[in-house]
Amino acid sequence: MIDGYGRTIDYIRISVTDRCNLRCVYCMPEQGIPPVSHQEILRFDEICRLAGIFGELGIRKIKLTGGEPLVRKNLPVLVKLLKETPGIEKVTLTTNGVLLAEQMRALADAGIDGINLSLDTLDPDIFAAITRRRELERVKEGFLAALHYPGIPLKINCVPMGPEEQKIEELAELARKYPVHVRFIEMMPVGLGKEFRGVSEAEILEQLRRRFGREETFRGRLGNGPAHYYAFSGFQGKIGFISAMTHKFCGECNRVRLTSRGFLKTCLQYETGTDLRELLRSPEIRQEDLRKAVEETIRNKPAEHRFGAETVEHREEKIMSQIGG
Ligand code: SAM
Ligand code: SF4
Repeated sequence: MIDGYGRTIDYIRISVTDRCNLRCVYCMPEQGIPPVSHQEILRFDEICRLAGIFGELGIRKIKLTGGEPLVRKNLPVLVKLLKETPGIEKVTLTTNGVLLAEQMRALADAGIDGINLSLDTLDPDIFAAITRRRELERVKEGFLAALHYPGIPLKINCVPMGPEEQKIEELAELARKYPVHVRFIEMMPVGLGKEFRGVSEAEILEQLRRRFGREETFRGRLGNGPAHYYAFSGFQGKIGFISAMTHKFCGECNRVRLTSRGFLKTCLQYETGTDLRELLRSPEIRQEDLRKAVEETIRNKPAEHRFGAETVEHREEKIMSQIGG
């Protein structure tokens, strides 16, 4: 559907849990977050009912996220149900990869259309420092398991944080050795991300040029998100950037978010949106009323983020694992 600023909204990120088996320093506190009871989280049938409305309103692509979506029991079942929803053309997943090797086959059988693997470094000690867990080996197994399905596009997402030991060139190298795109995401000042500086696209490109030579701008389109891509000579995949800070893309934003507790959220930076769970669970609610609520929320999507501004009304106070990234 079209929002109040003329943008086509055809993509939703649906979070299926607040829980995670890692504790990335920019996303979750070391002690985790107070566990949300199962009752507070949307059930699969509730997610599917809302997905039916999203499909009717023109949402075509769903990305499952979290917390870590693969810790939610029976996730492949949800993938299959969403794939059967009229209007929904693609269902993809963003994961930290720890449980990917054991679930890849079931996800493929369920019809998953793409996987984004979040991986910030290939160095075991730095990985443990960033995620506070020694799980790099399992993530690598997940990566290799996903490569066994060439029909399911795989992308690596890295949030660079500055230290040289993160060795982002090694990550970029994955796009040379394997048919995967590697993307660098600028740290956003949301939740714990406010405490980190992040690294700009310009700095990373400079670092990559020193190792791989001059890049060429890739003019084709890959996926329907805000990333832009470069081609390096001899690489099978492309190198992408999602630079919300230095290359603001609000004018082309095509997405909204549904939190695991059923809050429809229209921009990362603000807490504004609608509690769809409350509506869903009220006894008299009609499909038509739910539809209207979703439509109106999307129509009121804010024009842009104002990261960096001193005072922002309705600023989001949740941390990223409660939003879904
Ligand atoms: N656990 C899954 C994963 O890591 O892919 C899904 C949820 S996670 C919140 C989704 C994405 O958000 C990850 O790629 C993560 O690196 C990114 N992320 C978390 N906090 C961020 C921040 N402050 N700025 C930019 N990206 C962030
Ligand atoms: Fe977990 Fe993903 Fe957040 Fe890391 S980025 S703590 S893996 S939810």
